[in-house]
Amino acid sequence: MKFNPANNIQDLQQFGEFGDVNPSITDSATYTFMQAKTMSETFKGEAAGCFLYSRHWNPSNKYLADALAAMEGTEAAWVTGSGMAAITCAILQIVNTGDHIVSSCTTYGGTFAFLKNYLLKFKIDVSFVDITNLKEVEAAIRPNTKMIYTETMTNPMLQISDIPTLSAMCKKHDIKLVVDNTFTPMIVSPCSLGADVTVYSLTKFVNGKNDCVAGAICGSNDFINSLCDVNAGTAMLLGPVLEPMRSTNILKNLHTLHIRMKQHSYNAMYLAMKFKEIGLKVIYPGLQEHKGHVTLKKIMNEKYGFGGMIGIDMITAENSNRLMEMMEKEGVGYLAVSLGYFKTLFSNPGKSTSSEVPEEVQREMGMSEGLVRFSVGLDDDIERTFEKILYCLQTLGMMPKKKQVEVVL
Ligand code: PLP
Repeated sequence: MKFNPANNIQDLQQFGEFGDVNPSITDSATYTFMQAKTMSETFKGEAAGCFLYSRHWNPSNKYLADALAAMEGTEAAWVTGSGMAAITCAILQIVNTGDHIVSSCTTYGGTFAFLKNYLLKFKIDVSFVDITNLKEVEAAIRPNTKMIYTETMTNPMLQISDIPTLSAMCKKHDIKLVVDNTFTPMIVSPCSLGADVTVYSLTKFVNGKNDCVAGAICGSNDFINSLCDVNAGTAMLLGPVLEPMRSTNILKNLHTLHIRMKQHSYNAMYLAMKFKEIGLKVIYPGLQEHKGHVTLKKIMNEKYGFGGMIGIDMITAENSNRLMEMMEKEGVGYLAVSLGYFKTLFSNPGKSTSSEVPEEVQREMGMSEGLVRFSVGLDDDIERTFEKILYCLQTLGMMPKKKQVEVVL
């Protein structure tokens, strides 16, 4: 039977303390024990079902973690106070001083900065590669390489990582594959395709309400237990725990994720086709011309579409700024960073979410200074939204003069 993340979530039976249909919220930092012996066993990780302290585990967080593990088809998960906490904890749990990482060159700017600048403190070296060039990826692996790090659909260039092939490469070299699936929840399930660890910024599509930041790490029981080990667990010792009230809300939002992803994808496909029709340079993995289209079709789960992210190249930063300001005024959405919201959000990555990436590296990865990244919202009437965008382009004199070829990345 085909992997179906939405079925896995729907099949969960998570009741509250009094048979409540939503799990109870635990807002306690600590937990009582009837017997001192059980407390010491819990510290040693030997007392199943017991909670000792909420930085370690919290029942509300456990419900959300279990639901995310079900969605990903992993044995376990751990939820964090932000996506960056999930990414940094997962990486630091795997690598040690002197190790080496091979990473996709296009990643979220914060991740890029962590890999490039912060890990230097620990003498951990990172080689940045074009993740779609599998020969280049394999050639970058060294004897001290511990992991390949990538995003399923990279931010902001929307390249597609061939997860099964990268996984086979990792197994061959006995290293881990860590995948950020923030752009493609439901659409792709990296661990079911051979990734060892999947990380999320739940802040985006998974929560979908832009009312908090949160993250998650999904993987094997052994890996999740190692993260919250009281003596050496990165999550336990650095302490980026998610607030349980937030977990509770995110869990409820998770139950509508499959419907939202379909609508995000439908709307994004509509806009991408229209942008292409009027001759804009458009990046959308749902378009056949996109270099990752075939790979995405190979790895995606059925029914959820090609995702809600689109890029258009307005060539100059000035053009992109004028367009974004007018689109906000005309009610297309908001000029804001982040993604996965019910309203359309747009920003210029080179000047915002990828500004940590040096400009020459931005150019190397093909990122135009005029790139406008759209996170397409849940608009009921996307035709009307396109008309507004068209009006902005026409008013600003930015309609392409002749049909251009789409940017193929
Ligand atoms: N991963 C991706 C792909 C992102 O786009 C972001 C933020 O934009 C993050 C991780 C970081 O997530 P957070 O802001 O929740 O720490």
